[in-house]
Amino acid sequence: MTLETLINQLPRINTRAARDFAKLGVHTVHDLIMHVPFRHEDFSHIVEAGKLKIGERGSVRCQVLVVENRRSPRKHRLFTEALFRDESGSVKAVWFNQPYLPKILRRGDWVYLSGTLEESYFGVHLTNPIFEHIRPGEETIHAGRLVPVYHTRGALTSRQIRNLVSRVLPVARQFMEWLPESIRATNNFMPLAEALRGIHFPKDASELHEARRRLAFNELFLAQLVACRARGELDRAAAPVIPFNEASTRAFVATLPFKLTEDQRRATWEILQDMTRPRPMNRLLQGEVGSGKTVVAAIAVLNAALAGFSTLYLAPTEILAEQHATTLRTLLRGFPVRVGLLTAGVHLFDGEPVPREALESKISAGEVELVIGTHTLLVGSHSVASAQLSSEATRWLPPRIGLAIVDEQHRFGVLQRKRLRDEGGSDRLPHLLSMTATPIPRTLALTAYGDLDFSEIRELPKERKPVATQLIREAERARTYEWIRGELERGRQGFVICPLISESDKLGVRAATKEFERLQQIFPEFSLGLLHGKLSTEEKQRVMHDFKEGRVKLLVATAVVEVGIDVPRATIMVIEGAERFGLAQLHQFRGRVGRGTLAAHCFLFTETDTIDARERLLIFARTTDGFALAERDLELRGPGELFGKAQSGFPRFMIAKLEDTTLLERAREATRALINEDPDLDHHPLLRDGFTRLAKEIHLE
Ligand code: ADP
Ligand code: MG
Repeated sequence: MTLETLINQLPRINTRAARDFAKLGVHTVHDLIMHVPFRHEDFSHIVEAGKLKIGERGSVRCQVLVVENRRSPRKHRLFTEALFRDESGSVKAVWFNQPYLPKILRRGDWVYLSGTLEESYFGVHLTNPIFEHIRPGEETIHAGRLVPVYHTRGALTSRQIRNLVSRVLPVARQFMEWLPESIRATNNFMPLAEALRGIHFPKDASELHEARRRLAFNELFLAQLVACRARGELDRAAAPVIPFNEASTRAFVATLPFKLTEDQRRATWEILQDMTRPRPMNRLLQGEVGSGKTVVAAIAVLNAALAGFSTLYLAPTEILAEQHATTLRTLLRGFPVRVGLLTAGVHLFDGEPVPREALESKISAGEVELVIGTHTLLVGSHSVASAQLSSEATRWLPPRIGLAIVDEQHRFGVLQRKRLRDEGGSDRLPHLLSMTATPIPRTLALTAYGDLDFSEIRELPKERKPVATQLIREAERARTYEWIRGELERGRQGFVICPLISESDKLGVRAATKEFERLQQIFPEFSLGLLHGKLSTEEKQRVMHDFKEGRVKLLVATAVVEVGIDVPRATIMVIEGAERFGLAQLHQFRGRVGRGTLAAHCFLFTETDTIDARERLLIFARTTDGFALAERDLELRGPGELFGKAQSGFPRFMIAKLEDTTLLERAREATRALINEDPDLDHHPLLRDGFTRLAKEIHLE
């Protein structure tokens, strides 16, 4: 048997089991050993039979006295009753629907029984305890210890997996020990084979901990190595030097109707500093919804333009691209920045509609300092993290791209950036600024993206008040509408968000359309608008425009309004089916209101009233800090949910957890030290040769 031996070649594996294993991604012995348990059942507490207390969970080492099948007197349910004893006394066990037990448990057999002692109609007993025969010289694997519990599929059970894993574990010795010896020594790591045994069948909690630490480190170390190399590649690349134009920057800031917050100043400074260097900036600007990231971006755009470079500004949706175009054009009026908006439906040059071809040729002639579009415009249907550019993009890219700003996106692949260079015709990579209002906890960002630089805007503009958030019961709906009516009469505006699971979700659109009709009956005196992803660009634009101008008072929408829309008079946010959204997403919605100086309110309605949902929404109502909510969401729903599965680009770890911060720090240090000393891994051939394969193993891209 080797690591490559196929599962279906193992004795006692039928085709059905092999098929179920395949569904788990387990095809070979190697995969089976790497199919680590997701938890352990703690049956390690060994008690004497006579001393087990009611409600106590533990294992008893005992001998079979009698085993009998019976039927319950009233319902005639089949059950098996058995008596066991050790030196201290006896214990009873009851199993349901396992009539074969008397054949397996014979008088005099020694077994471990693991379970919780209960008192019921049948007296004091263990119900459906796990049992395992004790054989001299053999360890038990199902009972009387920390017992591994596995993810299963089809007809597979954890018990079956345990049997199989225990048979193949000796082969774990064939796993390649690629982690450099010095790193193992410094961190006091156990050998790999021991760790693999320990993660399945640990002797005790501390061995399990050590095994997990070792294996989690392997994953984090590889992820860091991938990131570190990507970063190394960036550090060796050239980027345009964009000097800080102090006079113009000051002049620009002086035109603003407000004072920049301290955080905005610091973020601006960090970005401008990066751009003065001949190495590509790789910075993530994280800032609370409404914290004013756009002005910061505008200053970067201005400096790039003054140095003779264009900026490519990518937004997630057309509506947002249009809004950015308007905002940035207004902000930068009077400065030498010509703004082009290029989306599937709209082509504007300095605010005026122009034919697409005309705009494209202006851009490629270098006459547009700020090109605003959508993510998809640049990459077509490919995921933003992939290396491809859309074929169209190559027609219109500006000749001198100094800066790429990606809004509401954590990541923009290195490869993709290289394409910007290739297609753009210069041999330098643009500086990259990505911006997000869904802050990723720092450790997670580092895990996923390696050495990214961060700027944070935590502080909101001073006059902004927190949005009062309430969870509303159905019985209070009518009253809430009356309150909203009062607000609308005073000239305020509001959103009503209907649940939508994906952009293509027809149900969501129908829900919004129905809600729109219903609300028209309830608020006949006001004009309502409807916004969803199935509308044409012109329709969307018209509705948004009417809402911004105050002609539409209440905007019923699907999740398309999620990010960035800025309407100062909007003070009401109603969210239907709120339990369907993640906390970070709800926070995004809430951030749509209270952008001016007026007090704002957010009302959450739910469709199902489970305790879990209520609790989650109550947390949301209480918490105004987007960073805290993002962390919470991450705990509750995992990174995929938080950032959208398709583009999250997070490595899928089997063992490492996001909370493993200390270990992550160690992995980072170890990787850095290694790369400094031996950048091409010449002295670590195992690691170098296995690198690509290993990286795949933990599902890195
Ligand atoms: P986000 O960070 O969510 O992209 P925006 O850049 O859209 O936020 O800013 C939200 C609103 O706050 C805008 O209307 C903007 O003009 C305003 N704003 C930005 N900075 C400040 C500030 N320092 N003081 C007051 N208002 C500000
Ligand atoms: Mg924004």
